[in-house]
Amino acid sequence: MELVIVGNGPGGVELAKRLAGEFDVTVVEKENIPHYSKPLLSHYIAGFIPEEKLFPYSREWYEERGINLLLGTEARLIDRSRKVLVTGRGKIPYDALVIATGARAREPSIPGKEHILTLRTLNDAKLIKERLEEEGEITILGGGFIALELAGNLAKAGYTVRVIHRGKTLLGLDGDLSERIRVELEGAGVEFHLETNALGADEEGLKTDKGYIKGRLKVCAFGIVPNRELAVKSGIHAGRGILIDDRFRTSARDVYAIGDCAEHGGVVGGTAKAAVEQAKVLANLLRGADDRYDFSFRSAFFKFADFSVAIIGRTGSAGSWLDEDVKIFYEGERPVGVVVLGNTQKAFRLEKAIKEGLP
Ligand code: FAD
Repeated sequence: MELVIVGNGPGGVELAKRLAGEFDVTVVEKENIPHYSKPLLSHYIAGFIPEEKLFPYSREWYEERGINLLLGTEARLIDRSRKVLVTGRGKIPYDALVIATGARAREPSIPGKEHILTLRTLNDAKLIKERLEEEGEITILGGGFIALELAGNLAKAGYTVRVIHRGKTLLGLDGDLSERIRVELEGAGVEFHLETNALGADEEGLKTDKGYIKGRLKVCAFGIVPNRELAVKSGIHAGRGILIDDRFRTSARDVYAIGDCAEHGGVVGGTAKAAVEQAKVLANLLRGADDRYDFSFRSAFFKFADFSVAIIGRTGSAGSWLDEDVKIFYEGERPVGVVVLGNTQKAFRLEKAIKEGLP
């Protein structure tokens, strides 16, 4: 059985790892470099880890498992009637095809946007690192986890860091939680400009509705755009991402999608954790076992400087503090979400409890 996976990110690589040996697995990747860890990119930019630490799997790792890894190969079209993937380097037949093309960074749409960098790939990270070492300071646009990871690590490394965010709160959390995270990051040296809209950029800084903020190096880290073009060109249904059902099936027979490129129930995953967990479940489904991914349950664990934050389940309702580090969110009587500050072990225990619906 020929399994072709498009994308060598965490989703694609996890699926290949799980099904190697049982299927003939080919991974098609347009970048010409081995799999690297995106969550570690800000640690690399900060100088905490050398470049080689970003690469968990060597070429030999793929060879030993019999995975056919095609780097520098762009998937261009899925010929659904012939069940063939058309790439820049020829055609590959498949019995099952999994699109794991991930996402790219959302670009700013303000005048002067050419003066603002984005962060998604290793090349982006190298450019930011080089510029940061020249400038010694950085302005980051965004209040999500990528912005805060980058801000925390760079402040910890001693750089001057400003975060510009148009929202009132961080990470889409409520005022209390956002305030705790802001105070921790300010303690690490990050300067925040909340409720501030960027209106334009030039080489020397950023024009905002609260005045001009000086800083030559500017990085936009607010949101992602799912890579759905391969699917759209191949006549597969897509919304913001590639539309999938409960079993990761797209609108095309034997074509599946996982990770940041996929959309289920109006939601795009957006984390490596979700991409890996989806790959685990899809591996079981493809080998014919019964399994289910709970799309309504999301959780993510982050570290901003030395401060860990876990966001588990649904956290949009009114919450109440269980203790000074744990806030629980309810729907009716039922706990449906929890945010844990600064205690990863506790977060793992609570993730299990919330998932199993324990009071
Ligand atoms: P991706 O990792 O985007 O991989 C998709 C791959 O497909 C890419 O290599 C791309 O080159 C390839 N591709 C695309 N189109 C084609 C094509 N047509 N042909 C061939 N190949 C193609 N998540 C967390 O859970 N925790 C974190 O702390 C965290 N920190 C992050 C920090 C940064 C700086 C960034 C950028 C992301 C971070 N994330 C984190 C998010 C996480 O990295 C992504 O959610 C995850 O990588 C998604 O995995 P994926 O396999 O779906 O796609």
